[in-house]
Amino acid sequence: MPDDTDSPLRILIAGAGIAGLAAALRLRRDGHHVLLIERAPARRTGGYLVNLLGPGFDAAEALGLVPALRDRDQGIFSSVLVRADGSTKLTMPAALAEQSLGSRALTLFRGDLEAVLHDALDDGAPIRFGTTVTGIDGPPDGPLRITLSDGTEHKVDLLVGADGLHSGVRDLAFGPPGGYIRDLDHVVAAFPLDPPPAALPEQTAATFIDVGRTAAVFRPRRGVPSAFFTYRTTSASADVAGGTATALAAHFGDLSGSVHEAVRRSAGVDGAYFDTVSQVVMGAWSAGRVVLLGDAAWCVSVFAGHGAGLALAGADRLGRAIADRPGDVAAALRSWEEDLRPEVAARQRHARAGMARFAPPSRLHLGAQNLMIRMLTAPVVGPSLLRAVSRTPR
Ligand SMILES: Cc1cc2nc3c(=O)[nH]c(=O)nc-3n(C[C@H](O)[C@H](O)[C@H](O)COP(=O)(O)OP(=O)(O)OC[C@H]3O[C@@H](n4cnc5c(N)ncnc54)[C@H](O)[C@@H]3O)c2cc1C
Repeated sequence: MPDDTDSPLRILIAGAGIAGLAAALRLRRDGHHVLLIERAPARRTGGYLVNLLGPGFDAAEALGLVPALRDRDQGIFSSVLVRADGSTKLTMPAALAEQSLGSRALTLFRGDLEAVLHDALDDGAPIRFGTTVTGIDGPPDGPLRITLSDGTEHKVDLLVGADGLHSGVRDLAFGPPGGYIRDLDHVVAAFPLDPPPAALPEQTAATFIDVGRTAAVFRPRRGVPSAFFTYRTTSASADVAGGTATALAAHFGDLSGSVHEAVRRSAGVDGAYFDTVSQVVMGAWSAGRVVLLGDAAWCVSVFAGHGAGLALAGADRLGRAIADRPGDVAAALRSWEEDLRPEVAARQRHARAGMARFAPPSRLHLGAQNLMIRMLTAPVVGPSLLRAVSRTPR
């Protein structure tokens, strides 16, 4: 039985990241009353580079964001695989990757993607910064009474938890994270490098891959270069607690060249991203009038490479499901989840299977990977092989 009127819903969204901003955009366009809250004191800028491909690009298009995103697209990078001493092992020209990705692909700083979402929303949508949800009350099938950390109370028809991997809404509505978080025994660090490393040419990524670890430094034509590190560890949480500089010095301190420069400068960086690599696996993404979205619900992890795309697609499709079932939020949430789940499950499987690409478990794996990269850069087999690799899995 439908349980709502089909009048606009009162919706509170916790988390003004990619998922939260995209959901606010879509739901406001459909005429709902949206309040967005964010724990950080102000908007985040910069961040690491993300690719939008496939369903992520489709969702950006459905949300009308592509023209503004193209203005901030960093384009394709030439890839240089480097040895521990910083010397070049092989080079993959940008044209090769460009050929396989085609025109429906974008490379963006996470902060730029959020800025474009924010600008699209900038028609008076209020974001309350420095605020979190502290209490959720109400019957499972009726409006909720939400208490915020600023002491205000809000009666809402739907609470969207878009507050990332360590979601506070999930803790309140679904219980402690132990049951949902699957740690993949790796950590990931990403941070800006301003000024750029001296030896790295523009529009180039220098990557070092070794047993159990990968490091990369990206220098875009426009914007601030960034560094990326990941390594396998059995003490991921303790490493994160110890801080970026200590962990990177211990695991990458033996390297030279641009990677060495990034390790050395990590100590002075403000706002580095440094976290465990984890997935969120839940039996259901909603409970009554509380729904989780993006990394809060299904974090696929950095190894999947599609988390931002799924956050956009999930938000757009959530809006569509609610619009398709006016007056029946429960049915909308059910059909939205059924529609999205197979894709999320495939991405999570792919990420787990693909961990070896980021941190090869043995010399044998590393050798096989080097061979694959050499084949990708070969003039005859390369382009078609690259097309096949970038198609998996959909
Ligand atoms: C190094 C790296 C590279 C990546 N590369 C790619 C890529 O190439 N392609 C891709 O598609 N994805 C990529 N991803 C994944 C992608 O960045 C995430 O999946 C995506 O950002 C998830 O968006 P989200 O809005 O769900 O969560 P988040 O980006 O985590 O945003 C959550 C927001 O909620 C706020 N918040 C947290 N707690 C609370 C609270 N209690 N109350 C209120 N607000 C709160 C946070 O401050 C934040 O603003 C990468 C991730 C990393 C770390």
